[in-house]
Amino acid sequence: MDLATAQSKARELMDAHGLEDWKFQWSRTRTEIAACSYDRIIYMSKYYPGFASDSEFRLVMLHEIAHALLPMEHGHDDVWKELCIRIGGDGKRLVHHSDKFQEAASLYAVVCAEGEILDYCNSKSWSTKGKYCAEHHKPVKVTPNPNRVV
Ligand SMILES: [Zn+2]
Ligand SMILES: [Zn+2]
Repeated sequence: MDLATAQSKARELMDAHGLEDWKFQWSRTRTEIAACSYDRIIYMSKYYPGFASDSEFRLVMLHEIAHALLPMEHGHDDVWKELCIRIGGDGKRLVHHSDKFQEAASLYAVVCAEGEILDYCNSKSWSTKGKYCAEHHKPVKVTPNPNRVV
């Protein structure tokens, strides 16, 4: 999905749930798919729509919309869960493919000397000091993420 389409779909969903006075805003984060700020803003990573299917995108928006419709203290409690499901979401605390998003969007990968990817990060200066691969007992290094797609 391109950004313009995603933005208008996000706007439509927000308006349909009475969030006309909330803003939708792109963020540049590669670690988090979306977030609800009680400054009346729903943020989404601009790298996400290129990665997500229509139904995944919709579930993420409904997750954030359910937050926006409740006072902040609800977090991911049962009230939030019930509301999220009622408006068509999945009521899950974690977006099921957030690990895959991290894999697709992170700038760097942390690899061990055997080439195995242990983690993803977004800074070249991620500290590898004293870090070893538990399986191979070898030091790790930071390289450009070979699995990056967005
Ligand atoms: Zn949430
Ligand atoms: Zn290893």
